[in-house]
Amino acid sequence: MNKLLLIGFVSIYFLSTNILASNKELTTLIATMKTPTPLISDLKQLTDEIGSRMTGSAANSKSVVWALNKFKQAGVEAHKESFDMPRAWSELSNNVTVFNENISFSPNIVAMPFTSKTQKDGLSAPLIDLHKGDKTAFLQNKNIKGKWLLIETVLLTDESGVHGLFQEYLDAVDIEGTAYKRGAVGIVYMSSRPKNLLYRHLPSNGADNKLPIIVMERESALKAQRLLGQGHQLSLTAQLNISNESPYTADNVIAEIKGSTYPDEIVLISAHIDSFDLGTGALDNGANVSLIIDIARQMKKLNIKPKRTIRFALFNGEEQGIYGSLGYTLRHAEELDKHVMTTTIDLGTGKINGFYTNGRKELTTALNKVLEPVQDLGPFAHINEAVVGTDNYDFMMQGVANLVADQGNANYASNYHAQSDTFDKVDQKQLKLNAAVIAALTLGYANLEEVTWQRQSSKQVVNMVKEFGIEASMKTFGLYESWRNNSRGIKH
Ligand SMILES: [Zn+2]
Repeated sequence: MNKLLLIGFVSIYFLSTNILASNKELTTLIATMKTPTPLISDLKQLTDEIGSRMTGSAANSKSVVWALNKFKQAGVEAHKESFDMPRAWSELSNNVTVFNENISFSPNIVAMPFTSKTQKDGLSAPLIDLHKGDKTAFLQNKNIKGKWLLIETVLLTDESGVHGLFQEYLDAVDIEGTAYKRGAVGIVYMSSRPKNLLYRHLPSNGADNKLPIIVMERESALKAQRLLGQGHQLSLTAQLNISNESPYTADNVIAEIKGSTYPDEIVLISAHIDSFDLGTGALDNGANVSLIIDIARQMKKLNIKPKRTIRFALFNGEEQGIYGSLGYTLRHAEELDKHVMTTTIDLGTGKINGFYTNGRKELTTALNKVLEPVQDLGPFAHINEAVVGTDNYDFMMQGVANLVADQGNANYASNYHAQSDTFDKVDQKQLKLNAAVIAALTLGYANLEEVTWQRQSSKQVVNMVKEFGIEASMKTFGLYESWRNNSRGIKH
């Protein structure tokens, strides 16, 4: 046999045994993720024992230690990385009364994050019905100054889903902006959930919010609206006892399995470990925190040696303005060119239907390839929209390839940030299957033969912002100004 031919055969032999070996690893990993693993008991611990984990709280610090221990017990290298939070905020107590000379009731409310504290005897002002708070409503009510504005909301169900949720955020930009400009005392949102359910989410100005904003249980808000409709004059007194303090630092948890062939190339998967303080953050996002820990655990247990480095990121500070992943992109700025793929899972435990490719259609071919081994868990269809509102944001704005899992609704929207986001809402079976999908995707990217894309230039990111029209959604999360003034995202 010709010597060259022999070398050729031998190298093809080694190459194919190599591929066979890594295929076998992948098949075993996928199968293992579907078997009973500690994923579910981890989630029970995180949600039932540690509970809600608002960034800045003692429980949040506890969850960071818990996650570090989980990785370490699995034999996976893990450490914490600190990042800056703009303000420490928490609501200590509140008391609201709606009244006139004949009527008085005290509905349950919560203050929206970053709302400021009121004087001890409360903030009292007339309450007016501003209906949906749209342009017409503001035009018809010239006299807003010095009033509390009651805003009617659309009932949020699993059918209205994530789109209903985004609409709620989007509507808030104009409502809050106009109310502030025209001197309203504060905003009273009718809870968009039935049966006295309360929730919190970020006001459109984030940590810069200056307006008292509260959410009132739907049934009481409807009553107030009916009374106002009948011609009763009503006032509202709100005593908001709030702790609003200086900037501080919080911690991300970063675990890693080093790559064997390309150790400086990074494949990152992330979920956020923080929640708000209502509910116990089971769907948002304890389920996917536990999923990520379990993938690391099973990879280590099977002694899988990925070609590229896999980073398991549990970001913190997500709910209050996506600060943990911002901190990561700042700390790892020098490494961002080497981030081959970053994937975020943040939509509960509904079936993974595909991935948002965030303005990067060129990512689809490889994405389909890495999902091939889990085709039986599909079908998967990808959406090339640019998602704003979770931890992919700073990667996207830095031009780093990023994906967000698109998931079925499965309880997500109706319990979003509410008291009812608890372990019993978790679809345990589906969560295990999602773990298999994310495991395949992660190892798939880590072992991919050829990476055909690279980090986008500043010009490409600017084009993406324009082409996908994301300015509006950036405004809903208080992110537009920092992009415009070049303090966040790729310099442009
Ligand atoms: Zn979330």
